[in-house]
Amino acid sequence: MTRPLKRHVEMESLFGADFLPISKKAKAAPPAPQPAPAAAPRTAAAPAKKGPSTFPYAWEQDWPSDFLSFRTEVLDCRKCGLCSTRTQVVFGTGPISTPLMFVGEAPGEDEDRKGEPFVGRAGQLLTNTLKRLGVERSQVYIANILKCRPPGNRTPAPDEMASCMPWLQRQIATIQPKVICGLGNIAVQTLLVTKTGITKLRGRLTQAQGVPFFPTFHPAYILRNMSDLPLFEADLKQAIQIAGLLP
Ligand code: URA
Repeated sequence: MTRPLKRHVEMESLFGADFLPISKKAKAAPPAPQPAPAAAPRTAAAPAKKGPSTFPYAWEQDWPSDFLSFRTEVLDCRKCGLCSTRTQVVFGTGPISTPLMFVGEAPGEDEDRKGEPFVGRAGQLLTNTLKRLGVERSQVYIANILKCRPPGNRTPAPDEMASCMPWLQRQIATIQPKVICGLGNIAVQTLLVTKTGITKLRGRLTQAQGVPFFPTFHPAYILRNMSDLPLFEADLKQAIQIAGLLP
């Protein structure tokens, strides 16, 4: 297998592909005609579920009421100009009892649409790398320096980061993870208050916000530089070990 093909196969498998088409020319057999589906019976709307089960994610059922009201406060945030361009605030996801927290830069287009951090291609790479290392996304808390998408995914402005930082600090203070894994230059330089680049900082345990802090590359950088995937994976493995998430 040639190197570019090997990279391509590795990349596709990161996004969950378990096969690749062999030839574009091969014609698939036309699908057998299916009987028209029977019209769905019209039923009364399902009654609203009671209590915490109305939340879409299992981990939200464990969020205490003060964390839920904190989220409501953040969802209404108007502390910077991004409130007028965002679709929605991306608060952060995961159990607050987790030992491992990830902090990225800012929501992108997919995250802004879905209201969840790291759900685009970079997020899939993060989720699938964790999975390969034996950790489910639902076991970790994921947040960003900024809770709102900067238009066109531009770099966060210093005043936006300064306005948003207290929200992240409150999340960190509540979760008190064993380790925070910082994803990429912006998150790492902001939390470490340094101008040193990620290539020098990554893979070394340090402290930020009074918590052990482990910097690594941003998964979007890995998408563009697949040769650094083994370093990214080794860093995540180390962060998982520091967090004690695996035996
Ligand atoms: N990049 C980030 O830094 N955060 C996200 O949530 C998505 C992409």
